[in-house]
Amino acid sequence: MLKIWVLGTFVGMRREIAEFLNTDLQYIRGVGPVLAERFNDVLGGRRVLDFLLHKPAYVRNRAVTESLAGVDTGDTITIPLLIKSHKKPGKPAPWLKRARAMRVLCTDKMGYSVAIQFFNSKYMDYWLEKLPIGQWRMVSGKIEGGNPPVMNHPEFIETLDAAEKIPAAQAIYPSGEGLTQKVFASVRDQIFAKMDSIVGEYDDEFLREFFDALRHVHFAKTSDDLLPNSTYVAKLAYAELLAHQTAIAISRRARTSQKNKRQKRVKARDYLNKFMNTLPYKLTDAQSRVVGEIFNDMESDVPMMRLVQGDVGSGKTIVALIAALKMAEYGGQTALLAPTDTLAQQHFAKIKPMCDALGIVADVLTGRDKGAVRREKLVSLRSGRTKIVVGTHALFSDDVEYKDLGLVIVDEQHRFGVNQRESLRAKGHSVDLLALSATPIPRTLSMTMYGDMDISIINQKPAGRLPIHTTKLPMARLNDLISRIKQQIDNGAKVFWICPLVQDENGIGVGAAVARYDALRETFPTAGLVHGQMSKVDRDRVMAEFADDNSNMNLLVATTVIEVGIDVPRASIIVIENAEQFGLAALHQLRGRVGRGKIQSYCILLYGLNVSPDGLKRLDVLCETDDGFQIAEQDLMMRGVGELLGTRQSGWIQYHFADWREHRDLFKLAARAAADGNVSDAVRDLMNIFGCGSNISA
Ligand code: ADP
Ligand code: MG
Repeated sequence: MLKIWVLGTFVGMRREIAEFLNTDLQYIRGVGPVLAERFNDVLGGRRVLDFLLHKPAYVRNRAVTESLAGVDTGDTITIPLLIKSHKKPGKPAPWLKRARAMRVLCTDKMGYSVAIQFFNSKYMDYWLEKLPIGQWRMVSGKIEGGNPPVMNHPEFIETLDAAEKIPAAQAIYPSGEGLTQKVFASVRDQIFAKMDSIVGEYDDEFLREFFDALRHVHFAKTSDDLLPNSTYVAKLAYAELLAHQTAIAISRRARTSQKNKRQKRVKARDYLNKFMNTLPYKLTDAQSRVVGEIFNDMESDVPMMRLVQGDVGSGKTIVALIAALKMAEYGGQTALLAPTDTLAQQHFAKIKPMCDALGIVADVLTGRDKGAVRREKLVSLRSGRTKIVVGTHALFSDDVEYKDLGLVIVDEQHRFGVNQRESLRAKGHSVDLLALSATPIPRTLSMTMYGDMDISIINQKPAGRLPIHTTKLPMARLNDLISRIKQQIDNGAKVFWICPLVQDENGIGVGAAVARYDALRETFPTAGLVHGQMSKVDRDRVMAEFADDNSNMNLLVATTVIEVGIDVPRASIIVIENAEQFGLAALHQLRGRVGRGKIQSYCILLYGLNVSPDGLKRLDVLCETDDGFQIAEQDLMMRGVGELLGTRQSGWIQYHFADWREHRDLFKLAARAAADGNVSDAVRDLMNIFGCGSNISA
């Protein structure tokens, strides 16, 4: 689990700093392996460094209010309250789905009342002990409507003596399932308590300022402090851009320099002709064009660095496989890197029969392979017998050696850092790189983000694909929808039902999906459920069952943990609940889970009561177009600041602090600074920090 490969990349940096930044979050008090894995999901890594690069989204004001007078529904307040009574819930009426709430009646200093409510009976005693009758407590939470107004599950309850434990300005981090803001705050406090001594060691002024800016951002006092052009965010953005632009400049220079010219490979076998003849369909024109571009690169005397962008369903996998077969004709090995076990297994299941037919040895290697099985696979790779290996980061573990690695293919490439892809390439000589991205990136953006790569676009879908019929529907029509879906399922359809993550301060976190699952099972008793708090093994099992044509699991309730790229050809309906909370690109990705077979597919975007006019407009874009590039352009124009779900998955925002729209000037400044060719130690450290380290395609 430990991501050891990164340690080696902090070459120039002082050892203690590097060690500290590389510390696994599980060693921080109160975290442990389970939470560290959840951090991994949210941060895209589980080191102290990954945490530091995770910017809070906004600041919630929790300064003390003395009275309830003038407080509005929806306000979050912190207020001293006198506890008057505990009202235990009666037996719930049989028709009520939800248990009745425990109510704690309180008054403020002026005698205004508020009712604090708790729902989960498991922790009832614990909460009641924190609110003893006849005593004052400082309570902080969100006020809901009602008479008296209600506060559900306050986030903080402290004695008046300990009231300072409630932060007056609480930085709120973008979070995921099962990670509370309290955990974020505690991890942050511990990290920064240690940072001082370490950063003091730095003799470079620029880097000291960088770490100082990180502190200001993590301890922001107001939401304004987190805006793109606030002093410290802009500083961090510039540092980040400088790192990336420098990496790109180095890479570009290295690729074109004479001394990196490589020996051309010689064709020794013939696989492609046979393969193309047995392919049950014809390549689209776009696929053929991209294959041509790839072949040109592979035959040239500089290593290939090519990014293939193609909308979901455009058929990138086959293009990648053709490149791998070409490499096999040259006698070289190909490693195909997938972001998750499930995707690796799925790719392998598709590729294996085709390779078998050609007499090419293909294999799969993930973290699940242990002991003798793993050793055997490694031997086969080292001997060169295995020509194509599909896998997860297991592919670049230290003990994995290749006889002659010639091609690295990175699927869903935005899920990997440059360091990761490079540490895989480093296992061979002049290795070709082919990166695949399902998220079309507007051209203007991709030039700056991928300046060191050549770009191919598959701008065409296989013929005969029916466009996905997309509609938006208010939540109020839920019952209609359910009965329509029931008909479709009776006719053999399979249905994805997506619920957004719920940022539940009390750490339950999967409420929406679990509750929906419970409710839907009344109509669909064989429904399945996957969410981020299930173990990977359980998740994979449920996904596999849903994908299996012979199982009777015909509806799958899921949070966004369902994989980008997962292929269930029979799935023809996807319902996305609270669709207004997702970014356009994320919605488009989710929608791409259906429409992969021959049947007409449907996407239903359910929106809640509180949808904004902008939110509805975004949904309209999806109803009107199926063109990923157009959606990406719109997304770029319409995206609100940082509040949307699924931005990390959506792929093309991979900067932590820089924002393409907001920092155009900084982009130019950084590009100019990077172009002069002098790379200082400080910039080298920055490149390591931002994961675009020193060994780029040298
Ligand atoms: P993605 O670009 O999303 O990775 P895939 O490679 O998974 O897309 O392809 C989606 C589906 O389309 C697969 O089932 C694949 O077999 C099929 N496919 C790919 N290319 C063609 C083609 N030229 N004609 C018909 N079907 C194709
Ligand atoms: Mg794919």
